[in-house]
Amino acid sequence: MPMSTAVLDTVADLCRTVAALHGELTRNELVIWTAGNVSARVPGEDLMVIKPSGVSYDQLTEDTMVVTDLHGELVHGRFAPSSDTAAHAYVYRHMPEVGGVVHTHSTFATAWAARGEPIPCVLTMIADEFGGEVPVGPFAMIGDDSIGRGIVDTLRGSRSPAVLMRNHGPFTVGRDARSAVKAAVMVEDVARTVHIARQLGTPEPLRQEDIDRLHDRYQNVYGQHQER
Ligand SMILES: [Zn+2]
Repeated sequence: MPMSTAVLDTVADLCRTVAALHGELTRNELVIWTAGNVSARVPGEDLMVIKPSGVSYDQLTEDTMVVTDLHGELVHGRFAPSSDTAAHAYVYRHMPEVGGVVHTHSTFATAWAARGEPIPCVLTMIADEFGGEVPVGPFAMIGDDSIGRGIVDTLRGSRSPAVLMRNHGPFTVGRDARSAVKAAVMVEDVARTVHIARQLGTPEPLRQEDIDRLHDRYQNVYGQHQER
């Protein structure tokens, strides 16, 4: 079915946004070579915009972005979609509140994934952003729905927008692609800080009631409300 002009405009906007957000992955040193990807749901449509497979970061523009349906089938674009498209699509199909998904192999978060260890909630910023520990998802092979299922099953039981997929790396979600990128930057930052704290001793856990208060304040009070 051809897309209406309004949908085409939205898709063009999202291609610009998603291409630009890939610049945040390199700026924040979350990716090397062509690893890592950002996607955005096209609101109200069974479509998403995602990075093309194997294209270098300095060649990513709105024109190289790929549009697929929510089963990962190519709808528009000159390149094949990212090899992680099936995982992104599975998340959009099963988590209607999610508008953006990000995946990286950022060093410190991936080091926790390699050990299969959740990042404990030992900092106010972990309580703020993740609402508790950053959970570990199952080991899953690339190529079918296993990664997507592992992400969704883990995030459904958690307030965290980030999951450390075992022996693989972090996937993050958000209400839009920018929020998911923010979670990807934050999860790497707290993974690094808690790693360093571990070298020097045992980080102090926060009390559950303080985690709940911090999370509630950050999610509902903090920031510029008119942007929501
Ligand atoms: Zn990966």
